[in-house]
Amino acid sequence: MHSSPLTRLTRRQALLAGASFCCLGASAQSAADFHEVAPGIHFRRGADEDVTKQNADAIANIGFIIGHNAVAVIDPGGSLADGERLRAAIRQTTQLPIKYVVMSHVHPDHIFGAPAFQKDQPQFVAHAQFPRTLALREQFYRKRLEVTLGKERAGAGVAPTMLVQDHAEIDLGGRVLTLEAHKAAHTDCDLSVFDSTTGTLLPADLLFVERVPSLDGSLRGWLAELKALKTRPARRAIPGHGPTSVDWPSGADNLERYLSVLLRETREAIAQGKDIEAAVSSVAQGERSRWKLFDDYNGHNVTQAFKELEWEQ
Ligand SMILES: [Zn+2]
Repeated sequence: MHSSPLTRLTRRQALLAGASFCCLGASAQSAADFHEVAPGIHFRRGADEDVTKQNADAIANIGFIIGHNAVAVIDPGGSLADGERLRAAIRQTTQLPIKYVVMSHVHPDHIFGAPAFQKDQPQFVAHAQFPRTLALREQFYRKRLEVTLGKERAGAGVAPTMLVQDHAEIDLGGRVLTLEAHKAAHTDCDLSVFDSTTGTLLPADLLFVERVPSLDGSLRGWLAELKALKTRPARRAIPGHGPTSVDWPSGADNLERYLSVLLRETREAIAQGKDIEAAVSSVAQGERSRWKLFDDYNGHNVTQAFKELEWEQ
């Protein structure tokens, strides 16, 4: 049984939960930062920083895929400024129309650049759950980003025009991308992309590498979705954070280990009668040296895991 965290948290709690991982950072980047990960797949690595005025929230891995007839954007960037740089990078590479803008999930570091593509009139593609979660959080995310970047550079959430319930395909001409809407995992609206032409999986934030993951959906759900994704016939994956390409499925090993430790040690803390504060200070501490930004996110992850697991039978 997978349920959205929003069904268990108050709106205020959900907003606060979302607030802590939406805005990690990268220094100001240009079109030259995009490189071809696989034939026709161009990506930019986001740095592991918090959002600053200088980095313009360009902190997630974002990019585009080129077919014979069209281009698909796979996450439009962390701000309007970031989205405009991505669009400029596309135009330096191809003049084919941008027909799809895939929004992998609701976190603003991935999607607030979407307004930069409205003039292209693409299909804005997202998980069926995305509109509901965006409605709960968009205003909070936007105001928070406007404080750091200024109103004119912050961008906004854009309503999807194409929703994915389960699976969908988008055809770029001689290149069909398969989209999968996942059950609650990293968030309650994770959408992954698979390019069979090159055997490349684009799981967005279902895959964190080097940077500690943030949990905003379901811990048990994330482990289940990861297990299923590992069976995909992909030779490489493009994480939402970290290097722009890792081998697959071995590239998921560290994340799977961290999530498994988080699950096991949170259950043990609950069984020992610890409260959340005690669990936060003890759970998954053995992972500390293995991840960037560990101290910024592990406590939040333990809190999320504790709330999910404390009533399980
Ligand atoms: Zn995310």
